[in-house]
Amino acid sequence: MTHTACPKAIANFIVQRIIEVAKMSRTQDTRLAETPDVLVDARRQRTCVPVLDFVVGGVEFVTMAGPCSVETESQLMATAHHVRRAGARILRGGAFKPRSSPYAFQGLGLEGLKLLAAAREETGLAVVTEVMSECDVPLVAEYADILQIGSRSMENYTLLEAAARSGKPILLKRGMVATIADLLRSAQLILGNGNPNVILCERGIRTFETTMRNTFDAAAIAFLKQVTHLPVIADPSHAAGYRDLVPGLARIAIAAGADGLLVEVHPNPDQAWSDGEQSLDFAEFDAMMTALQPWIELRAMASGEEGLEQGEFALKRTGDGAI
Ligand code: PEP
Ligand code: MN
Repeated sequence: MTHTACPKAIANFIVQRIIEVAKMSRTQDTRLAETPDVLVDARRQRTCVPVLDFVVGGVEFVTMAGPCSVETESQLMATAHHVRRAGARILRGGAFKPRSSPYAFQGLGLEGLKLLAAAREETGLAVVTEVMSECDVPLVAEYADILQIGSRSMENYTLLEAAARSGKPILLKRGMVATIADLLRSAQLILGNGNPNVILCERGIRTFETTMRNTFDAAAIAFLKQVTHLPVIADPSHAAGYRDLVPGLARIAIAAGADGLLVEVHPNPDQAWSDGEQSLDFAEFDAMMTALQPWIELRAMASGEEGLEQGEFALKRTGDGAI
């Protein structure tokens, strides 16, 4: 070590230790003691979940987009082609719909799954769709590339076990009244059932604030990126409940460290059979994707540093000359 390099090296060493200790104190947090397999450690820094020919949780920021519900062939195909052209990798769309009202549209079921598979065939997009019951897991797994566990099902352990054993990647949405530790417990159960391919999703939680549909917990994204090796994505649509808030929440999610987005897009949101108020139309989706590009590029620069975590990246970026 040369004389001039010494202060820089010492400062670097100290900052690295601070980052390590901060991480250790989080991962040794007793609230996370029940979920050892989902936490970062020396062996597992990052899980990249394989989907078709790409991964979620790697350098590429992955956008999943599509209608809340699969409604008709023309609605789904038009949306699939559009979101693919705008940069999405994965088509979302509910065939089995959990609804707040028993009188609301419950989804097309098998017919919806077939339309999703046809859209994958035409566009090359992967398909994520919700499975609500363990009885439906084999059927949904036949058509989907990723099984979505919805907010209302996050703690349905029978469903989680069946979904895990299908071997398909799982998109695990945070329950609307679930703590971060609850979310990680559900992820642990999936890993414990032999499926390492879990993507966590922050979609807003219920709080005393009722102006928006949910309260978007951006801090949860930053926290999860610190403590877990699993990919973390954000669903700004269900978090906001209003389409004009969606691009802003998406930007916040990327800044907080998210690996991707799940966004509702519809050719004619005002006519949507579900969640029209929070769905973007095609022009709004294009505008959002363009506006997010600089943020996505910043994130790619950070992720491109092999094996570096967010804190380490910040250290390196400011370190040129500063440290
Ligand atoms: C959905 O994404 O289709 C959905 C129903 O969301 P959530 O489970 O988060 O309410
Ligand atoms: Mn929806």
